[in-house]
Amino acid sequence: MFKTIQKVWRYIIPYKGLLTLTISAMLVVQLLGLVAPLIVKSIIDDYLVGIEKPWYETTETTDAVEYNSRFFQQETITDNSVSIVVIGTRYYFSEDVVVIGQKILNGTQLTILTPDNQTFTYEVTPLTRDEVFAFYQPSVEPLIWLIALLFIRLLLQILFTYIQRISTGMITVNMVRDARKDAVRSLQRMPMSYFESEPSGKIANRVISDVGGMMGLFSTIMNLLVNASLAVIFAYVGMFYLNPTLAFLTFIFFPVVYVWLRFFVKKLNKLAVKVNENSSMITAQLNEIINGISILQIFNFRKSIEQKFDHLSFDTQKEILKEQHLHLSIGWNMIRLVGALVTAFIVIFFGYGYLSISGVIISAGIIYAYNDYLSRLIEPVGTLFREIGNLQHSLVKSERIFRVIDGEQEDNALTTIPRYRGEILFDNVWFSYEKGHPVIKGITLKIDAGQMVGLVGHTGSGKSTLTNLLLRFYDFKEGDMGKIFVDGVDITTHPKRTFRSHIGIIIQDPVMFKGTIADNIRFGISSVTDEEAEKVLRDIGGDHLLDKLEKGIQQPVSRGGTNLSVGEKQLISFARAIVHDPAILIMDEATANIDTETELRIQKALEKARKGRTLIVIAHRLSTIKNADKIVVLENGLKVEEGTHKQLIANNGTYANIYRSQIKTRV
Ligand code: ATP
Ligand code: MG
Repeated sequence: MFKTIQKVWRYIIPYKGLLTLTISAMLVVQLLGLVAPLIVKSIIDDYLVGIEKPWYETTETTDAVEYNSRFFQQETITDNSVSIVVIGTRYYFSEDVVVIGQKILNGTQLTILTPDNQTFTYEVTPLTRDEVFAFYQPSVEPLIWLIALLFIRLLLQILFTYIQRISTGMITVNMVRDARKDAVRSLQRMPMSYFESEPSGKIANRVISDVGGMMGLFSTIMNLLVNASLAVIFAYVGMFYLNPTLAFLTFIFFPVVYVWLRFFVKKLNKLAVKVNENSSMITAQLNEIINGISILQIFNFRKSIEQKFDHLSFDTQKEILKEQHLHLSIGWNMIRLVGALVTAFIVIFFGYGYLSISGVIISAGIIYAYNDYLSRLIEPVGTLFREIGNLQHSLVKSERIFRVIDGEQEDNALTTIPRYRGEILFDNVWFSYEKGHPVIKGITLKIDAGQMVGLVGHTGSGKSTLTNLLLRFYDFKEGDMGKIFVDGVDITTHPKRTFRSHIGIIIQDPVMFKGTIADNIRFGISSVTDEEAEKVLRDIGGDHLLDKLEKGIQQPVSRGGTNLSVGEKQLISFARAIVHDPAILIMDEATANIDTETELRIQKALEKARKGRTLIVIAHRLSTIKNADKIVVLENGLKVEEGTHKQLIANNGTYANIYRSQIKTRV
């Protein structure tokens, strides 16, 4: 966990300024939170309830309250003290200072029962409304000031919360952008094997949504570590300032919360793993459905697929509900309840009739402020309970995205090397995808520069694997053997990118990008004009295609080339290969199911493409490679035959068999 946070930190560092701003704003907000209860406490104790504090008779007439032609004030102590008592909603005047305790009124006789069971009696006179107002008069101005202060505090809090949110938002947005950029860059340099072990949907998901995990991690850290700690610290500062005894008492709260949290997290963890698994299964299944939609519709699998999906959704829903239930039952809601109970306890225990405990008098204002601080203390604990689940999700997601960003990288240096002559040698090559299951078994094959070689063999015989090795899509691992040379140089000599600079490949379903046809042909070589691209395309038999299209070579191609037929895409990728003029060109024709017209077109294109380069053609339709300089027959990873069409027919082996079966099926 610490490592992941460290990695996230790497993305935060560039925005140190914003981070400082965020933390400062948080600090201000929390400081303002510290001030508010103190202001309210003063309002209650000094001014609202303060009326019950002793009043002193004075000879001064200014700044004093007039009652029955006598003058009273609270600030300066004199010999004659009186007091005002509030009972219910009525106010009474007493010639003596009334002690604190339970009040019992009988006519004009007031009895006070103190906590230590003493009784005192006083004679009291009820006050009229105007008289009460007169006694409140001195408080009005300071009260207005205090309320104004409260209001200003609120405005400041809004302002600084805004600053804090905005700067946090800016950090996360920037961070996510940087991480995505790095992830995409890193993806392009990952070894082929990575893309095989991970479904493409998952990889995309990583770059798009797992980056969100970093965002989550950042905001959780900010919320929990910075904001919550500040809140707790300030709440305690406030409490200790009010009353250290009370503050110490609240420490009991923490061990309880700690034990509780451990228990909660343990339960939550179990559920979170399940929910995570289920939701990624939903994604996977949805992917499957969308990708195979045409098949699903044809085969009428709809019902069973729907059912399966329903089941999964139902299961997930159940787990999520359980998670919610956990939060509600023993999660942060419960902590709130505990908080409320503690408050009730405090109010009852200390507050009842202004009890004095161990020499401390707890006033109404203190109870208010204390309660306010207590809820400030409980809130972060609630946040902790809520965020701890998110934290786990975010951590998992962040770890995943960092597996992409810091994943295995290949040496991608591109240096210019002279064009190959195109001589290829497979020297006793053994290769297996999975250890112990070789799919290429000791193949030695020499291809001269400028030759056209046909690779033939049944499905799964290892044809594509052989070309994959030549292209260095796979590296030799432990247990593999042999070497591959191009122009007598081991192909592992140069970095992959450099090595591939003179090799081209045409696959059966070529990759198309959004742009025009010309863009797709020039593909990276910006110096190729539209006219040149068109010439190449026509050269290899693209007339038919170009004349059909409204905009010709400038016809837009949609993403993935969905608006083109497979044959058209193949033509375009042929043109692309010729424009890029590789010294070695590989064509992997994955199916024999092509019509005669396409076959002729491919033959024509191949004739064009073989000029000036070594050409390796994997063909299922033998007519495609009939004219090859050499035909190599693979079977189960072994090279079983090698020679020209004529020689192999004369040989009457595997090749001749395949050839005859193809002639037959055609008739
Ligand atoms: P086809 O004519 O159907 O394209 P092929 O001759 O090109 O077949 P290869 O793709 O080279 O056959 O596969 C050779 C063997 O290796 C097969 O048994 C296949 O199951 C296995 N294989 C191919 N690719 C992988 C892979 N990425 N991981 C594991 N096994 C693989
Ligand atoms: Mg293949």
